[in-house]
Amino acid sequence: MSEALLELRGFTVCYGPVEALHQVDLTVQQGEIVTVIGPNGAGKSTLLNATMGLLPSSGTLTLAGRTIARPSVETMVASRVGLVPEKRELFGEMSVEDNLLLGGFSRWRRGQRDQAERMQEVFGLFPRLQERRAQLAATLSGGERQMLAIGRALMARPQLLMLDEPSLGLAPLIVREVLHIVSSLRDLGVSVLLIEQNARAALQVADRAYVLEMGAVALSGDAGELMTDRRVIETYLGVGGQKAA
Ligand code: ATP
Repeated sequence: MSEALLELRGFTVCYGPVEALHQVDLTVQQGEIVTVIGPNGAGKSTLLNATMGLLPSSGTLTLAGRTIARPSVETMVASRVGLVPEKRELFGEMSVEDNLLLGGFSRWRRGQRDQAERMQEVFGLFPRLQERRAQLAATLSGGERQMLAIGRALMARPQLLMLDEPSLGLAPLIVREVLHIVSSLRDLGVSVLLIEQNARAALQVADRAYVLEMGAVALSGDAGELMTDRRVIETYLGVGGQKAA
């Protein structure tokens, strides 16, 4: 097996006296797509936000063999970790192109002037963004906004991209399109940690999966195998899950 890209051990996050994540162990190998599924309030967003350094955590976080003692957004961005938050956080009054350029700003500041090349890479993945490069982000459709949010994160050339519910609020056909693109990120050398409510769609694109319940890992394993797990079918895939699996 290749070297682990992200390794969390005993990862714990508290909101005041309330423990939202309890001793989570999670690994993303180089080139892997890993999904975390689980019910509302299980701690999925908390896991991504704390990994990105947006929330304080305890336990250990290792990135490509290097332990990061106190993850902060600055350290994580410099370590080429990206997060597409659930709220997308685009600049609505700016064009598609300017939103993308902002995504590449941290590289530009470090003297890496490859933004034009990166943008072509993003347009290769999302031709629709190229057609709409001059359009204001606020006027994009939900699916296009999600594509722009992913594209903007890719401008920073992450080695690990964390996606918080990319399918939220999207029509089924668009969900499939977005997740298909997520699966193609591997070819760009990007590993993915994907949070999803849509367990079936997530398990279909992922290599491995974790089931998070009440802040702790309840199950983990090969995504294909979890799709045939009776408890996963009953709880997360619902009627028809067995057939699909
Ligand atoms: P969802 O799918 O509904 O987004 P989730 O699995 O992403 O859920 P989190 O948003 O990580 O879950 O929340 C985990 C727990 O932490 C919940 O009980 C939530 O109420 C609590 N929580 C989240 N943010 C805060 C906060 N800022 N202050 C206090 N508690 C919080």
